[in-house]
Amino acid sequence: MKCDRCSELIAPGDERDHFGQNLCEDCYIDAISPIKTCDPWAVHSAKNFEKHSGDERMLTSLQSEMLRILKEDGPMEPTALLEKIGGDIGLKDLEREFATLRHMEKARGEKQDQKVFWRLW
Ligand SMILES: [Zn+2]
Repeated sequence: MKCDRCSELIAPGDERDHFGQNLCEDCYIDAISPIKTCDPWAVHSAKNFEKHSGDERMLTSLQSEMLRILKEDGPMEPTALLEKIGGDIGLKDLEREFATLRHMEKARGEKQDQKVFWRLW
């Protein structure tokens, strides 16, 4: 008997039935193994997608709020932003969030007349 895939001769009794095909051992193993896909483009797009959508997903609600205020009201001093946000957060918390935003190139500090203003990147 011959293998339906590779046409190798199969010793009687060694053939494997796979959906009605008579396969040799090698082809049978090949047929039942999970399909291995090598698609560099798919991986590439997935990475790109992550890169573009990742930032928004990673923003905390506080960070989003900071960006929203800076966008609507323009550059302002950290203390002014803190006042606008209100709540229980302290300036240190705000500065930590700001550092993250700066790292993401979403916001940055700017010096004006000895004062530091935070603004969108
Ligand atoms: Zn075969």
